[in-house]
Amino acid sequence: MAEPGDSRPEPHGTPAVPGSGRGLPSHLAAILLVEDQPELVRALRINLRARQYDVVTARTGREALALAASHPPDAIILDLGLPDIDGTEVIVELRRWCNAPIIVLSGRSSPGDKIGALDVGADDYVTKPFAMGELLARLRAALRRDDDQLGQDQPRQFTIGHWTVDLSSHQVTATEAATSTRAGAPGTLAKGRAETLRLTPTEWQILEILLRRPGQLVGSAQILTGVWGPGFQQRTNYLRFHIARLRHKLEPDPARPRWLITEPGMGYRYQP
Ligand code: CA
Repeated sequence: MAEPGDSRPEPHGTPAVPGSGRGLPSHLAAILLVEDQPELVRALRINLRARQYDVVTARTGREALALAASHPPDAIILDLGLPDIDGTEVIVELRRWCNAPIIVLSGRSSPGDKIGALDVGADDYVTKPFAMGELLARLRAALRRDDDQLGQDQPRQFTIGHWTVDLSSHQVTATEAATSTRAGAPGTLAKGRAETLRLTPTEWQILEILLRRPGQLVGSAQILTGVWGPGFQQRTNYLRFHIARLRHKLEPDPARPRWLITEPGMGYRYQP
């Protein structure tokens, strides 16, 4: 997986961990590590990978927000003192659309700092210097708590018009009852083809961001950052183009969308 902000090779002495690297099974917990100190990033990454976590690292707050949108993490370890925006602001922004547990890892040890971070949505707070064993135990606890809520909270299949979108298999298939009645509609499949719909990688990314927050407004800037990266927040024309394509493929009446809703001047919403 790409690791913007820290692309150097692993140092010698990295524990040999079977399965760390490409082709990780999807059930491994994905950890987003947000930290700007290279030595600390390296130490944490080695320790997390040795425990079979899938680790993605960000060095800045903006990178963290983009990565959290494009590669939704199961948990986030977050430094507060970041080079661009303050970690507390990163928490505020994340909590508008991301439910993953956040563990703050910070050199700030005053009660005010801790209360501030917890109040805006952090789940736990570990003060630097820290014991690796304690941080890992807090991480396991946070993932366990989150796991208990999963299942009900995180559906993997969504309906849009005559289509079923499956985020696990990355497939869009015709909903069974509807397959015989779709002749002539936009996005109709050629006769004799499998009843699946092809989406481009960009369309998938946008759709996944919306489907992961059913019923919630997702800001245009958030989607643009998640798909294209920081610096693209103003390119709302990109988004309009791809949303129009998605509607044309998925909505029975693309001119009057029922599922992929525009909130004028703000963003988009998947309405279940
Ligand atoms: Ca820092």
